[in-house]
Amino acid sequence: MRAARLQAPGQLIVEEVPRPLPGPLDLLVRVEACGICGSDRHMFRGEFPTAKPVTLGHEFSGIVEEAGVGVDSFPIGTRLTGDPNISCGQCENCLAGRPNLCPSLSAIGVHRDGGFAEYVLVPAAQAVALPAGLDPLHGAFCEPVSCCLHAIDVARIAPGASVVILGGGVIGLLMVELARLAGAGPVVLSTRQAPRRALALELGAHHAVDASADPVGTIRALLPGGADVVFECAGVGETVRQSVAMARRGGTVVLFGVVPEGEEVLLAPFELLTKELRLESAWLNPLTHGRAAELIAVGALSLDRLITRTIRLDEVPAAIAGAPQAGEIKLVMAG
Ligand code: NAP
Repeated sequence: MRAARLQAPGQLIVEEVPRPLPGPLDLLVRVEACGICGSDRHMFRGEFPTAKPVTLGHEFSGIVEEAGVGVDSFPIGTRLTGDPNISCGQCENCLAGRPNLCPSLSAIGVHRDGGFAEYVLVPAAQAVALPAGLDPLHGAFCEPVSCCLHAIDVARIAPGASVVILGGGVIGLLMVELARLAGAGPVVLSTRQAPRRALALELGAHHAVDASADPVGTIRALLPGGADVVFECAGVGETVRQSVAMARRGGTVVLFGVVPEGEEVLLAPFELLTKELRLESAWLNPLTHGRAAELIAVGALSLDRLITRTIRLDEVPAAIAGAPQAGEIKLVMAG
């Protein structure tokens, strides 16, 4: 079969490799769709540790083609998504329901072969069935949606709470939809690109603010006293600082964007203290993959609006190596 393999930083090549054989408790899945995530670009550049060589791709959906010994819950032909994050299930954090913090965490598409291939091996314990009629491109959104759902859980949004989201990439736009579903209002997105602001309004945001023109002042004018909940979804030092400034006294800030490792951000503890802010962070998708699949299966999210381009496996290396094109939101490989 063909697979896009990361050989070394900067070297992602589509090549012929043996089709994997499912071991006990494994499923062999024919990949129908796999999303390109910002982390794939970080891994390509060597900014995030991976196995090497490894087939990238952790946001996939597909069809069960073969089942290993001991798997009877996923008949051949089942459409499914796989939670790529595999935890040990036995450590203190796993037992406490926090598998995202497992010290032995490994991931499909990072430490073992992933979905930018014709086939991917998925341990049955990581698989979540999808409706037979679901668009596989939508199935590929289960992983990013599951991460966003964890952030929504961490935020503990009360009905009618005001929410500000910083960063209008695919994550920020998904957060707009999920915050609305969680009962927030008003929901405000702050981002620099005008088309993304327009899309956010179509997706249900009550306001969209130009992040290049005094976003803190604009939020203070819109939400006197500040927002109940702020999600930082840009992964930029500047927006981390803005998050704190935009939150109301007693409010919550959830750090979700990945600020590059080693980068420092200057915050004023006095402001955190006197506002008694709940400064939270949300990492990966502890026990939320199934809920994400359910939300997607019932069509609760407008995912077609987020897919700006579908590509073939051959085009994956160039798409990951290059910067996102102007106006691009989500790129998905269609198998
Ligand atoms: P993305 O496509 O890079 O989107 C981030 C967007 O933030 C940018 O496109 C940009 O849009 C906006 N931005 C940049 N600087 C800004 C500024 N100063 N003010 C306001 N907006 C700014 O990334 P994504 O895929 O949506 O992911 C968002 C973040 O979540 C990334 O850091 C990603 O690594 C992280 N992430 C975290 C988890 C987790 O588990 N915590 C999971 C998945 C992803 P404009 O050009 O319109 O401003």
